[in-house]
Amino acid sequence: MSEDRWHDHADIEVRQLSQIVTEYNAKISIAQLIQPVSNDALALRGFNVYGAENAANGISVGSQTGSAGHTKYHDDKVKVTLAKGVKGWSLAGTLAHEGTHAADDLEFWAAAKNDRKAARSGPLNRTDYEQEFRGYKVESIIAQATHPKGRYLNKGGYVIWDATWKADEIENNRTAAINELLAKTPIYQYTPEQPGSRLLP
Ligand SMILES: [Zn+2]
Repeated sequence: MSEDRWHDHADIEVRQLSQIVTEYNAKISIAQLIQPVSNDALALRGFNVYGAENAANGISVGSQTGSAGHTKYHDDKVKVTLAKGVKGWSLAGTLAHEGTHAADDLEFWAAAKNDRKAARSGPLNRTDYEQEFRGYKVESIIAQATHPKGRYLNKGGYVIWDATWKADEIENNRTAAINELLAKTPIYQYTPEQPGSRLLP
């Protein structure tokens, strides 16, 4: 924990995307990150949630060991942690995946604050399956936008974007691949039928 230099900046609530990318030593610019997905609302939302520097949106970013990224909501605040070894387009995908969780968290809890009962039974009270599906869908879309030809994206043994997919098969293949990943990966084991718990159980 002592090696976690982000703790030195605990007073900084929000880190601008460019600052996050610089500190994680990504070899891509913010324009490169966002431009390819600028016409995809879900992917763009995963980046935009980090907001502008000093915007009081309650998101802080830190580092972690282990998996590429993690998002935790507590008491109106979201903490996104990223592995330091994640770079380049992999960092972009992880940022937007975790940013999607952050946006889903903030969206739901804002609604719950307004009307807890309605929010609890409403569509924003997403299941673990729905949340992770959206996170991996965004990663797949970013891979498609940034590496449209001759590339694939393998997440833990599951190819969730493959440039050889035919145009009219992309959405079906993407859904099937992410469903397989979520069903078979030990830390998830979520399916549409067994979707885990909701943000507010
Ligand atoms: Zn996730």
